Amino acid sequence: MTLDYQTFIGGTFLSSAAAVDVFNPATGQVIGRVPNDDARVVDAALKAAEAAQEGWARLPAHTRGLALRAIASKIREKLPELAQITALEQGKVLPLAQMEIALTAEYLDYMAEWGRRIEGEVITSDRPGETMLMFRRPMGVVAGILPWNFPFFMIARKVAPALVTGNAIVVKPSEETPFGAAAFARIVAETDLPAGVFNLVCGTGPTTGEALVANPIVQMVSFTGSSAAGSAIMASAARNITKVNLELGGKAPAIVLDDANIDLAVGSLAASKTINTGQACNCAERVYVHRAVAQEFRDKLAAAVAGISQGDPLGDAAVAMGPVINRAAVQRIAGLVENARSLGAQVLTGGEILEGPGCHYRPTVVADTTPGMDIMHREIFGPVIVVNEIDSLDEGIALANASEYGLTSSIFTESLSSTMKAIAELRFGETYVNRENFEAIQGFHAGVRKSGIGGTDGKHGLYEYTHTQVAYIQT
Ligand code: NAD
Repeated sequence: MTLDYQTFIGGTFLSSAAAVDVFNPATGQVIGRVPNDDARVVDAALKAAEAAQEGWARLPAHTRGLALRAIASKIREKLPELAQITALEQGKVLPLAQMEIALTAEYLDYMAEWGRRIEGEVITSDRPGETMLMFRRPMGVVAGILPWNFPFFMIARKVAPALVTGNAIVVKPSEETPFGAAAFARIVAETDLPAGVFNLVCGTGPTTGEALVANPIVQMVSFTGSSAAGSAIMASAARNITKVNLELGGKAPAIVLDDANIDLAVGSLAASKTINTGQACNCAERVYVHRAVAQEFRDKLAAAVAGISQGDPLGDAAVAMGPVINRAAVQRIAGLVENARSLGAQVLTGGEILEGPGCHYRPTVVADTTPGMDIMHREIFGPVIVVNEIDSLDEGIALANASEYGLTSSIFTESLSSTMKAIAELRFGETYVNRENFEAIQGFHAGVRKSGIGGTDGKHGLYEYTHTQVAYIQT
């Protein structure tokens, strides 16, 4: 099966010369080719967005929300086809791909509701006869740069808050997973969304991504991806003082105390590292388990992880876990595990590349690492979880906080006071208690330290796409 891609600018599809091969990571087969759009194409897309933005912003926000709902409705109609594309280009299992598509439609609907809820403020003035009003205004033209791990959902996560608040957007999907975005553009073209409000360009980070970020038309870069790319984007955006919203990597810790429901913790943490093949920014990567329950926890976790079937999700619908995204990722993950093993860590299960076509790595549990090992501070972003023992909650919190990343964290305990202490002392954007790490659309997904700047989802995520204007009215 080969998939179609076309750049979408100002409501028109363009066929640029294809330059980058795209692979199905489950089989290694080429499934299509995409262009590597250069600064000229990117500039045309941004100019189309700029031309459309003011007229779009003048519409009532509720009307803009209706446009999001129209896209959501078409996504629901095409769910099976879109899920197939997502599974093929990204390698996730079909039920998860279906969930991702459904969530995308739900997200568009959720942000559409904000069309009637965007509010300003009336501020009391020091002067007699003066009224102070604070308005929320769109940023203008937004560049949305996407990762490959939830390639379809991420489009809505950028597009929905940007559009309902009156911005126009140019989206660049990951060059690894461009076809869902192309299908999204075809859906947009079937709706009444004014030309230029949504545009799509494609290509690599250094070429297309950098051209977007460096262009002065862009008033905000909304980026989800690695911390390294986030840092490069911030440096480039600094030249024009362009606002950045950065959703970056994570190294999520999970603390399991001696009073925890062990089966619940095992189930949640095994799922966390195998759903989407461990390729989610908020997956638990480091478990700190109380010594009193460590043996039971390790045995059960290793058994749970070892029992996960893996393979090509579209070749065998029964598999629970698909591939990682590409060969380089397999090598990187294997390297982290081998480095830990060579320095004395134990591999309780897995720890090997699955031979054959595609990019498959065994679900793996590594135990007894030391803080200096690469696996303890580099993001694994694959089906590998590390388990270490602790003697107290204080020790767990200290180890959890000892990271450059600060996205998500979790704790498993039946004690309210341990829960509240952990929430107070864990320095992360999110803390999950007795459950898997998976954020809600009405929350606020935001990291600290190298996990990012700003956040996404909910009211606070919506307002990221606005700036304020205060009017002082003397009468
Ligand atoms: P990546 O940084 O390699 O690429 C992300 C996007 O940025 C791609 O579209 C890429 O082409 C582009 N890009 C790369 N360098 C660029 C540059 N210099 N200028 C402009 N654009 C550039 O990330 P990835 O491998 O696609 O995704 C995995 C990473 O994303 C992980 O680190 C993961 O933790 C993170 N992530 C974070 C969140 C979150 O909400 N915090 C969510 C999902 C993924």
